[in-house]
Amino acid sequence: MPFQPDEDFAAAMDAGDPLRGFRERFFFPTPAERPCVYFCGHSLGLQPKTTADYLKQELRDWAELGVEGHFQARHPWMPYHRLLTEQTAELVGAMPIEVVVMNSLTVNLHLMMVSFYRPTRQRHKIIVERGAFPSDQYAIKSQILFHGFTPETSLIELTPRPGEYCLRDEDIDAVIEREGDTVALILLGGVNYATGQAFNMARITQAGHKQGCVVGFDLAHAAGNLQLHLHDWGPDFAVWCSYKYLNGGPGCIAGCFVHERHARNWELPRFAGWWGHDEKSRFAMGPEFSPMPGADGWQLSNPPIVSLAALRASMDIFHEAGIARLRAKSESLTGYLEYLLRRRESPAFSITTPPEKERRGAQLSIRIAENGRALCGRLTQQGIFGDWREPDTFRVAPVPLYNSYQDVFRFVEALAAALGLQPA
Ligand SMILES: *Cc1c(COP(=O)(O)O)cnc(C)c1O
Repeated sequence: MPFQPDEDFAAAMDAGDPLRGFRERFFFPTPAERPCVYFCGHSLGLQPKTTADYLKQELRDWAELGVEGHFQARHPWMPYHRLLTEQTAELVGAMPIEVVVMNSLTVNLHLMMVSFYRPTRQRHKIIVERGAFPSDQYAIKSQILFHGFTPETSLIELTPRPGEYCLRDEDIDAVIEREGDTVALILLGGVNYATGQAFNMARITQAGHKQGCVVGFDLAHAAGNLQLHLHDWGPDFAVWCSYKYLNGGPGCIAGCFVHERHARNWELPRFAGWWGHDEKSRFAMGPEFSPMPGADGWQLSNPPIVSLAALRASMDIFHEAGIARLRAKSESLTGYLEYLLRRRESPAFSITTPPEKERRGAQLSIRIAENGRALCGRLTQQGIFGDWREPDTFRVAPVPLYNSYQDVFRFVEALAAALGLQPA
């Protein structure tokens, strides 16, 4: 349906939205008198109203059962992480054996690099996008140094053409083709956190594998945002956090994907811990490590049940809504945001996220020409939440689970007023 610029249109779109009921299942912050517009789901997703009940169940079982909770809890803690396996696999387009929830994102990134970044004198480079999230840059550089190489000679940063903000597929292909036989690992974000650009993961994986490179993705901004088909796309591994689009709560336990082709590759080196040990003999407490097949075999510790419980609350909602329906709404919602912004075209701002829906997720990155930080602060005081990144970028994400077309309308009105733009 073609978009229309008036608020009635937004209201009509909301009325016809099959997912509209999900909004009621989340708590919204209340900083101002007016209801807030929360476009920060790319940083910290909102709290489902059911999360507390999921947590209380585990606290009650712990209080009443003590150590017996491992086996006697309503959801026994011993196999608890597996309550998340099916839904996680469904969310990222994987087989159950390929996914596990464990640790936090940067930890998982390191664990994956321990197994999948195996530099040799000939093949030691890592390809990453320039301006990757700092934690990824630190993790990657420290891995290079750990292996006795240096970032100066072992790190290749994909850089947009002069005057452009995003990478072109053909330029990524060209670097992989040119550098391929010296590259050990290609590690990109599924969606770049700063620009909101979504990468063509199938194409990159194929290009990388053709050159004999290992391929991994950081899906921090893609999980719960894009529709993913990790098994079919075929990367060797992927990692993500669950407090952004996945609404697991601050610092919530993270996710990890290891492709099935590595599920029984016992030759792969890995950092081991007892929870990755074959569960049949885990409690024999023997001295030799014998890993579980699949992603489970990379676990280190018995997991934080309270964190897993919070993630279950959210994943149950995702399962109900369905990522395909969410993505369909998301494309429309972000398209509407872009449409309204373009009607207010002005030198005061520009959109740096790609216009094609295949090349972005929910987020739009808006460059503010002047005094953006102060503007962002004023909007927050009015209850309009986005994320400011120095030096000039306002990142906003209408999230299909809990944001509405009227949110988008109100956001653009507030931004236009803050920028002093004339009515459209
Ligand atoms: C949010 C984010 C992180 C954060 O890492 P944690 O280990 O969860 O603190 C790392 N990398 C990317 C790309 C991110 O977007």
